[in-house]
Amino acid sequence: MPNHPVPSRRLFLAAAGLTAAGARAADPPLAPPDRQPPDLVLPEVPHRQARWAVVGLGKLALEEILPAFARGRLSRPTALVSGHPDKARRVAAAYGIDPRHLYSYDTYDRLREDVEVDVVYVVLPNSMHAEYTVRALRAGKHVLCEKPMATTAAECRDMIGAARDTGRELMVAYRLRYEPFNQAVIRMCREKAVGGLRTFSASNCQVTPAPNIRLSRALGGGPVQDVGIYCINAARYVTGEEPTEVTAMEHRPRDVPRFREVPASVTFQLRFPSGVLAHCECGFDAAESRRFRVTGTDGFIDLDPAFSYRGLRLTVGRPSGREQVQLAEVNHFAAEMDHLSDCVLNGKHPRTPGAEGLADVRVIAAVEAAARTGRSVPLPPADPA
Ligand code: NDP
Repeated sequence: MPNHPVPSRRLFLAAAGLTAAGARAADPPLAPPDRQPPDLVLPEVPHRQARWAVVGLGKLALEEILPAFARGRLSRPTALVSGHPDKARRVAAAYGIDPRHLYSYDTYDRLREDVEVDVVYVVLPNSMHAEYTVRALRAGKHVLCEKPMATTAAECRDMIGAARDTGRELMVAYRLRYEPFNQAVIRMCREKAVGGLRTFSASNCQVTPAPNIRLSRALGGGPVQDVGIYCINAARYVTGEEPTEVTAMEHRPRDVPRFREVPASVTFQLRFPSGVLAHCECGFDAAESRRFRVTGTDGFIDLDPAFSYRGLRLTVGRPSGREQVQLAEVNHFAAEMDHLSDCVLNGKHPRTPGAEGLADVRVIAAVEAAARTGRSVPLPPADPA
């Protein structure tokens, strides 16, 4: 029997520097303090989104634009405008749009009271772009208008004036300015990756059977308006210049009824101030081709296809060989819609405003005049709109 008392367990643990749970007194506490750390990082906050009305539920709206909302981050469809209520109801149900936000062309101006709409996307026949853009701007909405912006330069100026008067953004839907392949070509040309630019050639052709809005003069159709505009816009964005002179030829086959109002094929040339010459072809009666080539003093850049919705291919050719440039593809429509949403949500101005659309419409008018008269048409610098 020991002649001193046996130490209790508590005294033993204390002597060993341990607590009952087995931790040392100097160990940090396991339970967190009841306060937030100073370097607290929140998970990504969901983006604010601009709310869009899509006007005209035709092929482009149904096959490309409405599905593209799911591919973007800053844009969501909240209203539809259509001349066909049954179709509009079906489309609204498919995209979760409240049927209270469906409009016809007659009730279009009621968009003014619709607080669930920030932006109106005009996807109508070309002859209707000006009227529906101006009405949307006057209803206090921002507008994305499909190309070509309108049928005349005077209409474009009215649209630009309406945007200025109402303080709303007006963007023309040049989707290629928002996708990486065409952007890369622009960058290469500015950096003189193939030397000084000398020529630009482009082809945008397809077979367009009747009936189609593109074959109707009254609806603003025609190959230059519909597909040639891509060649014009690309010639302007790769050179960064405005053309000063235009020549053109067109073919109107008398024996083909679908070409009684618009030409089947048009070729045209543009002269730029630096000396770059562009030659372009477009048409509604030739196998699909959607390409351009920029030729410089040290090589060339091919984008083929250049104007399609997907699958663009970029090749740089130099005397030493050809190299294909790999880039990640984006959805063109999601990219352009998100660009305008970002502008609207954050007080910025779009990269392709009304002035861009006006510049192309002036060239289209010059191409038509040159083809009609067989003469070269000078293009003086544009007046400020
Ligand atoms: P569609 O003919 O397929 O659709 C046009 C829609 O406009 C119709 O479905 C209809 O919608 C509405 N509409 C209203 N009035 C008329 C009318 N009098 N005649 C015909 N349609 C009318 O054309 P697209 O969708 O191919 O083209 C629409 C616009 O988009 C054009 O400006 C075109 O240049 C542009 N576009 C742009 C492209 C791009 O890549 N950026 C590609 C293709 C087209 P509803 O029945 O709902 O009233």
